[in-house]
Amino acid sequence: MKIIMLGAPGAGKGTQAKMIAEKYGIPHVSTGDIFRANIKNGTALGIEAKKYMDQGLLVPDELTVKILLDRVAQPDCADGYVLDGFPRTIPQAQVLDEALEELGDAIDYAINVEVPDENIVKRMSGRRACVSCGATYHVEHIPPREEGICDKCGKELILRDDDKPETVQNRLQVYHEQTQPLIDFYGAKGVLKTVDGTVDSKEVFAAIEAILG
Ligand code: ADP
Ligand code: ADP
Ligand code: ZN
Repeated sequence: MKIIMLGAPGAGKGTQAKMIAEKYGIPHVSTGDIFRANIKNGTALGIEAKKYMDQGLLVPDELTVKILLDRVAQPDCADGYVLDGFPRTIPQAQVLDEALEELGDAIDYAINVEVPDENIVKRMSGRRACVSCGATYHVEHIPPREEGICDKCGKELILRDDDKPETVQNRLQVYHEQTQPLIDFYGAKGVLKTVDGTVDSKEVFAAIEAILG
């Protein structure tokens, strides 16, 4: 099963993608996580990507597409995957489509997690991410067992640099201009499914399970 998560930054794509990955036994592939791992390790890719990420801009397609295609060519992706944060532009979606088509394959579901802009800034300022394993929490809605500490690995939780309100506004604008058109792109292919992302994360997941079966 090959699944794409669509939605604004902070809509809950990562939260849902992790639950999907666990239930259906497929890898969770997040381009944001891949970039952050590269930044942490000080790679050339990380240094380049950071310039854009810190401003709330998209990393150029040339860099992003290559990373993603390499990742989904790994053996653990052979039976499917859930993509979180990719594609984010029409050209990215077209490249993915062509790569799948060459394998006689296609995306099965594009799940659009719908959350209005008004809710997003609040969600992002409450998001906390683990410095080590990438797990995410929310100070009010999805708190860790112990404040500031990751449930999964015990490391420190931080507010991401790009989750500060000024940057979030930029990211929302970039989302509307460059990513939202993907809703129609996947709609036209007949694989688009929309869920209400404003309800509790468990309820969002129940709606997704009803779609995936
Ligand atoms: P969120 O889901 O909160 O928006 P991500 O972790 O998916 O955050 O992405 C963080 C940042 O990484 C983005 O703002 C962007 O700069 C970069 N990024 C991630 N995925 C892509 C992509 N597919 N294309 C371009 N840039 C990306
Ligand atoms: P995305 O990957 O789309 O950027 P995340 O999954 O990281 O979004 O979620 C953004 C923030 O909102 C996180 O702090 C997360 O814990 C929280 N969150 C996720 N789903 C919900 C929900 N249904 N209701 C309230 N908060 C949520
Ligand atoms: Zn952790």
